[in-house]
Formats: sequence, structure tokens, C-alpha cells
Amino acid sequence: MAVSSTPARSPRRARGEGQWALGHREPLNANERTKKDDNPLNVRARIENIYAHGGFASIDPADLRGRFRWWGLYTQRKAGIDGGRTAVLEPHELEDEYFMLRVRVDGGQLSLEQLRVIAGISREFARDSADITDRQNIQLHWIRVEDMPEIWRRLEAVGLQTTEACGDCPRVVLGSPVAGVAADEVLDPTPAIDAIVEQFVGNKDFSNLPRKFKSSISWLADMPYEINDISFLGVEHPDYGPGFDLWVGGGLSTNPMLAQRLGVWVPLAEVPDVWAGVVSIFRDYGYRRLRHRARLKFLVADWGVEKFREVLEKEYLGRSLVDGPAPALPDKPIDHIGVHQQRDGRFYVGAAPVVGRISGTQLTQLADVVEAHGSGRVSLTPYQKLLVLDVPEERVESLVTGLRGIGLEARPSTWRRATMACTGIEYCKLAIVETKARGQELVARLEERLGDIDADITININGCPNACARTQTADIGLKGQLVIGPDGRQVEGFQVHLGGALGMAQGQTAGFGRKLRGLKTTAEELPEYVERVARRYLDGRTEGE
Ligand code: SF4
Repeated sequence: MAVSSTPARSPRRARGEGQWALGHREPLNANERTKKDDNPLNVRARIENIYAHGGFASIDPADLRGRFRWWGLYTQRKAGIDGGRTAVLEPHELEDEYFMLRVRVDGGQLSLEQLRVIAGISREFARDSADITDRQNIQLHWIRVEDMPEIWRRLEAVGLQTTEACGDCPRVVLGSPVAGVAADEVLDPTPAIDAIVEQFVGNKDFSNLPRKFKSSISWLADMPYEINDISFLGVEHPDYGPGFDLWVGGGLSTNPMLAQRLGVWVPLAEVPDVWAGVVSIFRDYGYRRLRHRARLKFLVADWGVEKFREVLEKEYLGRSLVDGPAPALPDKPIDHIGVHQQRDGRFYVGAAPVVGRISGTQLTQLADVVEAHGSGRVSLTPYQKLLVLDVPEERVESLVTGLRGIGLEARPSTWRRATMACTGIEYCKLAIVETKARGQELVARLEERLGDIDADITININGCPNACARTQTADIGLKGQLVIGPDGRQVEGFQVHLGGALGMAQGQTAGFGRKLRGLKTTAEELPEYVERVARRYLDGRTEGE
């Protein structure tokens, strides 16, 4: 399939938003300049041939703070710098000589061989660190540039990659962690995910987008499809059968917007082509002048879905798309935790680490436990959890026990099941507050004080306004910031958003949590605060709520 080409340019306007298709190519902001000066994918050769030998000090700053991201590499935060100094220090003062490395796991599926390779890299090169992210990636920390050639050699030998795991390009493609096995899945979209990754990831036609581009493709609504740049969700067309409903323009951060349906039905075979058309619109018409307006959601909001569909059909696909019905949506998010039967009669088991934090040692143990129970693979969820697939019925209970023995709970409390946390101040240069350790403390405290409860209360903890752990979509969303402590001084704390939701049933509306000015808590008081909110909700809820 050919990559969609840039359309003919319209006459140049005096000032625009930096849209290439309208001729607005100058002036460039610093990020656009870096990408124009050299395609970021080219930095791989410099890492292998120069920086891996010269060490951290030999790295060109434009590569270090710009192009390295296209290979999944961010410098990590120097230890001991408090959140109050995040906004005032220069990048070089904040960063350590070590890197965070993001391994993309498109569709979330991992073989045991792949799991063992990641585990080995974690133990050998990353001080045993590993986090499952809420986008089905695995993040390692403490990586040295000297070790990158060997790390890539090992990852790529088993079909894994870090290519475009970060940067202004197509990030990991989310896929259902139970694709191909779920009893209620009608059409497995894995071939489309594979085709997109094979054709377009690392492809220079799409390696300079205005900003990041997030995708998800799933038959089941078991992922946050409303907040991606593009989502394909399974739907039955009354005349044409199973296919996918297309959503565009979602995203969180400081200007959250929900994706909108284009109202089209896309057959599986055409998903990669339509995906490439939408990415091409973003590349050509996306806003590049101001970084904070550069996501696809701003273009979709300005154009509206009718114009977006028309441009997609006329300028990029050269054909009309079929009108399609809205998909049936579940009445609450599907996280797959616990024991579930597959359509082939075997079972899958979803288990929860706490806030996605694991280790290389645990991943090694996991591979051993999984293998001992007759399974050959696991999958990662966009809720910082993991699943063991293809388990024979008679091995399920033994597996649940084995997972518990390595710190992965298949029958977790509500608190453990529904709490997520972003990377936070431990490693993230943008962070204002600590998140992972605080999330672990919070879960332990709520389990101790409230026990398990018969309600789903989601808690998303974020270290700054960037909302990597989806602040606005939880029942209790926490946005890290400095707040005034009891003694009048600034301390780490959170702005609280209440009542956010995704994946809601038809008839209800997905929506963002409400941010009320007065709703803030210091980080120290967070456990008491959440406990109070939860108790008030539990005491006051109506029947069936
Ligand atoms: Fe870092 Fe902020 Fe994202 Fe957390 S939300 S990982 S602190 S950028």
C-alpha cells in the first residue's frame, strides 16, 4: 500500500498554525527545527557508532533532548531534586546521565522468550527496574548509552523494538490484551496492528509529525479508546458484517478532549490504509507553530468531524467510506482481572502488580510460573496490569497461587485493581510530586482501613498536569502540584478531579472528572483524603450505584 502523499498546497497565508499543507513551514519552534535539521530516526546510527563509545558527555544536546526519544530514550531525573525546582532549573541541571528506555509492545502481547529477554535486560542493564505503563509498554530505568547497541541487539533478536516508542511519531498501537482468544470477540484486529507496525513504524514518511500520535485498535471496548488520536472499535454493520468504527481527536494533558466518531465503518483489510490517511492529515494539516496546540485533537475540534471525514476521503483515500453504526459499549471499563474462559475453552488470568511496578526478577519468575502452567505467553493491559493466556482449566488455581507468590494478585482488592500511577518524580524530569511509592502506600492503607469493597473506585495518580496516568478519567483523579501545607509552606500535593469515566454504556456519556478549585490535598494527607472520599461515597450511594 502506498503512503498517502502530501496534497497540493493552497496559497500561502501570512500567518498560520504551522500547517505544512497550507505552506506554513517557517518560522520553526525549537522542536520543529530539531526535526527539520535531521530526521530523528537517523540518531540510531550516531548512538551505535559514536555515543555508545564516547559516553554521555559525547552526546549532541539536540540529539540528547530531542531525537533520542524516537528510539525510546529519555534522560531520567537526577535524584534528590524536589518538585519545587522542576520549573526553574535548566534541562541539563535536571537530568541524570542515565536514561529511561521504553520498549513498545504493540497489541500488548509478549511471548515467554520476549518476556525473558526484557527481564534479562532489566537485571543486567537497568538495576532490576521495570514498569508496565498504561499504554502497554514496558519502561526500564538506569540505562546507559554505552549499553544501547547490545540492548537493541537482544530486543530485536526476539522481535521487540524501541523504535518510535516516544517522540513526534506513531507511538505503540494499543490492542486488546485478549485479542484472538476472547469469547465475545467477533473479529481479531491483530493483522491490522501488525501491518501498521511493519509498514509505518520507523518509516520516514511518518517520523516527523506535529506531535505524538496515539492509536488503538480493538474489537472489544477494553481500552481507553476515547482519548487516543485514532481508535478503531469493533462494530457489526447490518449489511456488511463485522468491521471497525473510527474515532479521532481524543487526548488528555492540559486541554482534554474526547475522541469523536466519524460515523464510518471500516473493514479489517482497510484499517491500515485508513490509519495511514488519518496520520497523513495530521502530518500535513496538524498545527506545528505552538507545541501545546500540536495534537490532532485541536485540528479535529476546529474542523469538525464532517470536514475531517471529507478531507480524509477526498484528499487521502480517493474514495468514500461506508456509513457505519455506533458500537455497543459496555457499562463499565473492562480490565480482564481475574479468571476468564477463552473461546477455545482454556482460560486467561488477569493479575495486578501494584501501580504497574514490577522488576526484572519478577518478570523472570513470571516467565517460569507461566511456563510451568502450560501457557506460552502473557499480555499487558492499558491499566498497568498483565494477563496470562491459554491456561488449561486444571492449572488455573495453581497458577493463581503461583502468581500470588511472586507479588501478582489475580484476586486483588478494588484498591489494588483500580489504582494507577505515572512515573513521577523518581525518574521524570517534568514531575512535581512522587507517585509510584505513594500509590503503593495508598493501596496498602486503603486495604488496611477499608478492606475490599463491592464498588469500583478508580484512582489515577499523576505527578504533574501532563496526565500520563489519565488524571481526568478516574473516579478520583490526582494531578500533582505544589500546595500550601499546614505550616503555610509549599509542599507536594494534588489537585483532585472527581467523577471521571471512560467506556460508559450507551445512554450515558463518557466524561472528564470535575476539577473544583478547593479540592486539593497535600501528598502526606492523601491516604486520609481518599479514605474520606471513599467512605462518603460508600455511605451515600444509592441502590445499584
Ligand atoms: Fe512525568 Fe507528569 Fe507524565 Fe507523570 S504525568 S510521567 S510526572 S510528565
